[in-house]
Amino acid sequence: MRIAFFGGSFDPPHCGHLVIADAAMTRLRLDRVLFAPVGRQPLKGDGAATSFEDRCRMVELAIAGHPAFQLSLADAPQPGGQPNYTIHTLQRLQAQLAASDELFCLLGADSFLTMRQWYRAAQLLRLCPLIVAARPGWSLADLSIAMPPGVGPLTRVNSSRVCEEFQAPAEPAGRVTLYVLPDMDADVSATTIRAAFAGGSPAQGVLPPGVVDYIATHQLYSASRA
Ligand code: ATP
Repeated sequence: MRIAFFGGSFDPPHCGHLVIADAAMTRLRLDRVLFAPVGRQPLKGDGAATSFEDRCRMVELAIAGHPAFQLSLADAPQPGGQPNYTIHTLQRLQAQLAASDELFCLLGADSFLTMRQWYRAAQLLRLCPLIVAARPGWSLADLSIAMPPGVGPLTRVNSSRVCEEFQAPAEPAGRVTLYVLPDMDADVSATTIRAAFAGGSPAQGVLPPGVVDYIATHQLYSASRA
């Protein structure tokens, strides 16, 4: 099976997440996309606005009706509130897979562009191919600026309007593969959605209906809870 790990705060999960997961699935012929809410994102200082349990429930509601999408607890909170490092999560997942399975890691352009700051980024890049979705406001014109030390120059090995493949040699051995989905243009973020709720004017058309209902029922993101 071809399986993509898709980590994020999902605070809340929105249509941008679903659109890129759907595109990745079709274009990379994935069998499964694992939506994995993160316990504590190492690079997001403030932490999530809502609990891990609320975010898991919202992911379940968001992906209902998408049989290939699955909630994953692979990035659940660590003992003592330690940060969740993606390299460790991917190593654990990899160890659970069958030899014939192929693991990918799906992320948006903004996350990709912070890659040099990720813990053991070069090792992570050697572990499995990344699928990088374009995102409005984040340029993917120069992918090499995101490459950590130890990863050689990227070469485009395949190109189509909807999926470009790049490879680079990696030290001490191996290679890095990136797939880029260049035409993704979902102009939506969880930050603006939370702000809209806090301002009393919930964002329209960017959340799956089940998630809207859950937020309303549990009064998430209201100014009084902020
Ligand atoms: P926030 O605004 O709180 O930072 P977010 O909208 O970026 O949240 P996350 O849950 O942090 O959502 O994102 C999870 C992953 O999905 C990240 O890799 C992010 O880059 C990607 N992603 C989120 N929204 C989009 C989008 N509209 N287009 C492309 N990628 C996206």
